[in-house]
Amino acid sequence: MNFLIDLATLNSVSATFYTILLTLLFIFWQRNRDIEAIIWWCGFPFFRLINSLISSDSVDYDFQMIVYLGNMSVVVSDTFLLIGCLKFTNSRVPWNTIAVYLLFFIITCGYQYYDNAGLANRARAMVVFDIIPITASIYALSLLQNKRYMIEKFFSIFWSAFQIGIFVFWILIDFQFEDPKYFVIVPISLFFIYLSHIFITFGLIILTIAKRRSMLVDEIEHQQELEETLESALETARKANDEKSLFLANMSHELRTPLNAIIGFSESLKLGLYGPLNDKQKEYIENIYGGGELLLKLITDLLNLSNIEEGKVEVKPEEVNLNMVFSKTLPLLREITGKNNDRLIINNELEGRGESAAVFIDQIRTKQILINFVSNAVKYSVPESEIKIDVCEYDDAYFRISVSDKGMGISEDQYDNIFEPFNRAGNDNSKIEGVGVGLSIAKTLIEAMGGQIGFDSEVNVGSTFWINVPKPMQRQLPMDI
Ligand code: ADP
Repeated sequence: MNFLIDLATLNSVSATFYTILLTLLFIFWQRNRDIEAIIWWCGFPFFRLINSLISSDSVDYDFQMIVYLGNMSVVVSDTFLLIGCLKFTNSRVPWNTIAVYLLFFIITCGYQYYDNAGLANRARAMVVFDIIPITASIYALSLLQNKRYMIEKFFSIFWSAFQIGIFVFWILIDFQFEDPKYFVIVPISLFFIYLSHIFITFGLIILTIAKRRSMLVDEIEHQQELEETLESALETARKANDEKSLFLANMSHELRTPLNAIIGFSESLKLGLYGPLNDKQKEYIENIYGGGELLLKLITDLLNLSNIEEGKVEVKPEEVNLNMVFSKTLPLLREITGKNNDRLIINNELEGRGESAAVFIDQIRTKQILINFVSNAVKYSVPESEIKIDVCEYDDAYFRISVSDKGMGISEDQYDNIFEPFNRAGNDNSKIEGVGVGLSIAKTLIEAMGGQIGFDSEVNVGSTFWINVPKPMQRQLPMDI
C-alpha cells in the first residue's frame, strides 16, 4: 500500500466533505443571522478545506512552505471553532491572547522552516498548538447549562475530545509517521480525524437548531405569560368596571329620591301654592329649582351610562315611519331650543313620504339621541343663535338626521375621544354644565340599532352632529318570476 497516495485520496475526499459542511453551515448562518457564533464556525470547515487542498497538492512535500501554510490553516480553523463556541456561550472572546497565540505559532513555523525541521517536528508543533483551541472549545461548550440542549452539547464535546485522543495517539508513537510500522495506522488515524470534523460540524449545526428551538420555546412561554398577565389585568379591570357601574347605579338612585323632593317642593313654592313669595324668595327658589333640575339631568345621564355598561338597556328596533318619529320629537326639541331663544330651522326632505320613509329603529332611543344633539347645540352656542335639523336620504341603507349649530365648535385635537365617556373635549373647567357622557351614550345606542354616528366641526364656526338611521332590510325577491 502506498502511504502517500492514500493520503492524497483522503485529502481529496475530505475536501469535498468540508465544502459540503461549509455550505451547510453558511446556509444556517443565512437563516439564523442573530446567532453570531455560526459565521465563526464557518471558519472551521473553511480553513480545514484549505488545508485539505494544500495537503493534496503537497504530498510529495517538495515545497515545504505550502506544508507550513497547511498546518497554519489547521490551527486557524480550530481558533475559529473556539471563537464560535465562546460567542455561542456568550463568553468573552480574549482577542489579544488569541492574537499572541497565533503569532507564536507563525514564529514557530518560521523557525522550523529555516531549521528544516522535518515531518515529526512539524507535526509535534502543530499538535501542541492545536490542542489549545480544541480544549478551550470543549471548556466553552461545557459552560452551556441550558438543559434543553444537553445531548447536542455532549455530542459536540465528545467529537472534539475524540480529535484530541488521536493527537494523544500521535504523541504516543512519537510522531514516527515514516516508520513502516505505522504506515497503515497513520492514514487510518487521519481518517478518524476527518470523521471527527464531520461530526463536530454536525454537532455545531444541531446545537444551533437546539438553540433556535429553545429561543422559540422561550418566546412562546413569554407570550403565554404575557397573555396570562393581560387576561388577569382584563379581569381586574372588568371587575372594577362592574363595581363602578354598580356604585353609580346605587348612588344615582339614592340621589334621585331627595332630589325629586327638592325639585317638587321648590316648584310648589315657585308656583305660589303655599302663599305669595317676595322677590328675593322668588329669586332663590328659582335657583334651587334650576340647580335641582340640572343635577337630576346629570344624575340621569350617569345612570343611563351605567345601565348601558351593565347591559341593562335594551334596544328594541321596530319598523316605523321616520317622519312620524321626528314629528313626535320636534315639540321637545323646540322646547329645548326655546330656553335659549335659539332659532330652530327644520329641513326635512322626507316630509310627505309614507312607506318610503320607513326606518328600523328604537323610537325612544332615537329621540334620546336627538335630544342630546340639540341640547349640546344649545349649550355650546351663544343664546339666540341658529340651530338647524336636516333629515334626508343618505344612501340605500340609511337616512341621515343632522343637527347643526353655529357655536364654539370642537378643536381637532379633541376629535378622537369625543365619543369616549366622561370626555368633555376641553370643556372640563368651563361653566357649561355637563359630565361628558351624552355622546358616548348616543354612540352606544345608535350602534346597537345598526346605525352610525359622526360629526363635523370647526372652532368658532360651528358643529354638525349626525346619525345614520337604518332602513328596514330589503327583502330579496327573485329576479325572474
Ligand atoms: P356633555 O355635554 O355633558 O359634556 P357630551 O357627551 O354630550 O357631554 O359631549 C361631550 C363633549 O363634546 C362636550 O363636553 C363638548 O365639549 C363637546 N360637544 C358636544 N356637542 C358639541 C357642540 N354642538 N358644539 C361644541 N362642542 C360640543
